[in-house]
This record gives sequence, C-alpha cells and structure tokens, in this order.
Amino acid sequence: MDFQLSEEEEAFRNEVRGFLDDNLPESHERTPDFLTNWSKQIRERRWVGFSWPKDVGGGGGSIMEQVILKDEMAQRKAPSLGSCFMGLAWVGPAIIQYGTEAQKQKYVPDILDGKYQWCTGYSEPDSGSDLASLKCKCERDGDDYVVNGQKIWTSIAMWSKMMILLVRTDQASESKHDGITCLLVPMDTKGIDVRPIKNMSGGEMFAEVFFDNVRVPVENRLGEEGEGWKVTISALASERSSIAEVHGLIRKIDEVKNLARGTIRAGRVMSEDPGIRRRIAQAETKIEAMRLNGMRFLTKQLKGEPLGSETSINKLHRADLEVGLGELALEILGSSATLMEGSEPTVDGGAWAKYSLNWPEVVIGGGTPNIQKNIISERMLGLPKD
Ligand SMILES: Cc1cc2nc3c(=O)[nH]c(=O)nc-3n(C[C@H](O)[C@H](O)[C@H](O)COP(=O)(O)OP(=O)(O)OC[C@H]3O[C@@H](n4cnc5c(N)ncnc54)[C@H](O)[C@@H]3O)c2cc1C
Repeated sequence: MDFQLSEEEEAFRNEVRGFLDDNLPESHERTPDFLTNWSKQIRERRWVGFSWPKDVGGGGGSIMEQVILKDEMAQRKAPSLGSCFMGLAWVGPAIIQYGTEAQKQKYVPDILDGKYQWCTGYSEPDSGSDLASLKCKCERDGDDYVVNGQKIWTSIAMWSKMMILLVRTDQASESKHDGITCLLVPMDTKGIDVRPIKNMSGGEMFAEVFFDNVRVPVENRLGEEGEGWKVTISALASERSSIAEVHGLIRKIDEVKNLARGTIRAGRVMSEDPGIRRRIAQAETKIEAMRLNGMRFLTKQLKGEPLGSETSINKLHRADLEVGLGELALEILGSSATLMEGSEPTVDGGAWAKYSLNWPEVVIGGGTPNIQKNIISERMLGLPKD
C-alpha cells in the first residue's frame, strides 16, 4: 500500500478543493436553486461517473482520482455526486461492461444526468440468499421476451422508470446458474403491477412487483441469453464495493457525537459519560479499520486485479456498525428514544428511532451477514463449502 499521491493526483486534489472553496456554501445555505446549479456544475466537469469511460459520458478519471474526489466531497459534506443511486452504483457499470453500443448510448447519459431512477428486480419470495434459484419465467416470442412471475423487496420500484431484471429463460438447464437472463425493463410496460410494502419504521420504500405477460423487446437484453448470472455477479460486486464506503459512517458517528454533546441525563452531559465515550471510541476504531480495509481493495484495483469476495468484509462491518450506532444513539437519548416521528416532544424529530428501525436496509439489503460470512470463509479462507 502506498499512500503517497503523485504530482498529478495532488494537482487534482487541489482542483477539487478550489472548486469546493468557491462553490460550496454551508449546509444551512444550500437552497433548491443551489442544488440544481451544483448538479449542473459537477456534471459539466464530468465528476459524476468520473471513473467511467469518456465515450459513454464519464470522466475517464483514474480510480485514484475518483477516490480523491469522493474523499474531498465527503469531508466537506457536499451533496452526492449524481442522484441515480442504483444506476451509478451497479446498473451503469453492468451496462458499460455487457451492454450493446445502443444500450450504452441510450441509458448511461441518463444515469449520469440523474434523469430518472432505476430499481433492481433480483429477489423473489423464495429466492433471496439463494438468488440463483429464481423462477420468474421468461419465454421468447418473436422479437420479444414474455415475462411472468413475481419479484419482492424491490427498493424504490414505485418511483423508478427502469428496472434491471433477472429472469429464467431456460427452465431445464442443468445448473441453476445457467438459464438466467438479464433484461432492462421500462416500468410502465403493460402487465407490471407494483405493490408497495410498509416497513416497520412506517415508511414504504420497497415493493412487490408482479409480471403478467409483460413483453420486453429482445434488444433490451443485457448480455447474452443465459448469461444473466455473470452480469449479476459483476453488478453485485459493484454493489458491495459501493456499500462498503465509509464516508456515510464517518458522518453518522459525528452526528452521534453531537447528540451526546447536546444531551443531558441525570445532570450529566452524555459525551462525558465514560461508557458512552468508550462505545464511541470503539465505533471510530472500527470505522478506521474499515477505511484501511478499503485501502487494501483500492490497492488491488490499482494493480489491475479484479475485485471479488473481499468487498463482503466491509459489507459485514458496515452492517454491524450501523446497528451499533443506532443502539448507541437510543441509549444516549434514554426514554425519549421511544418517541417516533410525529410524537411530542421528540429529539431530532424522531430521526434516531427511525434510523434504528431501518437496520434491515443495511443488514439484509445486498446480502445477509450469514451469506457474507459464507463468502469470506469459502472463497477467501478456503474453508469447506456450506
Ligand atoms: C431494505 C431492503 C431492501 C432491499 N432491496 C432489494 C432490491 O432493491 N432488489 C432486490 O432484488 N432485493 C432487495 N432486497 C432483498 C434482499 O436482497 C434479500 O432480502 C436478501 O438477499 C435475503 O433474502 P431473503 O429475504 O429471501 O432471506 P433468506 O434468503 O430466506 O434468508 C433467511 C435467513 O436465512 C439465512 N440463510 C439463508 N441461506 C443461508 C446459508 N446458505 N447459510 C447460512 N444462513 C443462510 C439468512 O442469512 C437469513 O438470516 C432488499 C432487502 C431489504 C431488507
């Protein structure tokens, strides 16, 4: 691992810092107009999808420059680079790797511009961890595929214009991994029925999606027929590597620290409580370990080695940390932690209670801890198969 920046990288960091000095106001001064203008400026600089190839609209930047850009932005709490989360995290990379020229031109610029949202139709009622057992049926009929079946837990399906969908095109394949195909599906196609699911914090951010004779043109297939598993594996590695980022956690621990500084219980400021201080220090140490682990992945990437199972390590740590930080915040708050949004008087509008109830998103979404542990033990430690 070499932490020294080259001259060019140092110059790029100064460019980003200069841009932030000139264009980023304090958080409370960020109006909707500022955000519109900000999105335009960072897109013009090609900082959205900065490491994607220039010919599809990316910045053609190196992986190291991408890291510098994200680090500087995170340290200054700048708005995110782009607004199409799934598009930027894994749909775009999958299209760049497996898409036809027409697909790249059609979808990638819109992802970079954040014109609309993508959702991910992988999980089914009986196929989550064992995703390759999926059954959603797809048959060829002329120039179309016809899809029948169901997906579940599809995040933001109700607000998405497009879905990256996994279907089974070969019902009789010898291996369950064969016979899976990946399709890019407009959500307004006839026969798609989206039914939101309420989660335990009261929000509706995912849905069941039903397919009843949904016709998808063959030109919307991503990769070859029967090769959907290969497309998915690379997309999931992108998901885990993006989930692994520590910037959000650093922000979160800062918020917990502020909460502790501003909360007085039994006459004591909670940030002076030795137990709370120890827990905060433990969390910060873990976050630093995650950051260094991230540097190891980065070193591999810089050497041109493919990212594989290693990303599961930080996925696992992040899940553990987010649950721990939620519990810590509730302990700091004491009995007022039980008040949800809308109750009087909540602390921070009930945001901490809501955060704590949202743990399934980071713990289960993208693969459960048990599955991450299986991946690490089998593929990295060489232990016997599950
Ligand atoms: C907030 C949220 C958002 C999501 N968003 C999406 C989305 O946008 N698109 C999408 O397709 N899916 C999404 N999911 C679904 C998610 O990927 C699945 O829930 C997850 O993969 C687990 O699958 P499952 O729910 O079927 O649980 P199961 O696979 O049935 O697992 C149940 C339990 O058994 C354990 N288990 C299963 N197999 C093994 C094994 N081999 N060894 C040891 N333990 C095992 C699991 O760890 C878990 O504890 C989302 C989930 C959540 C919670």
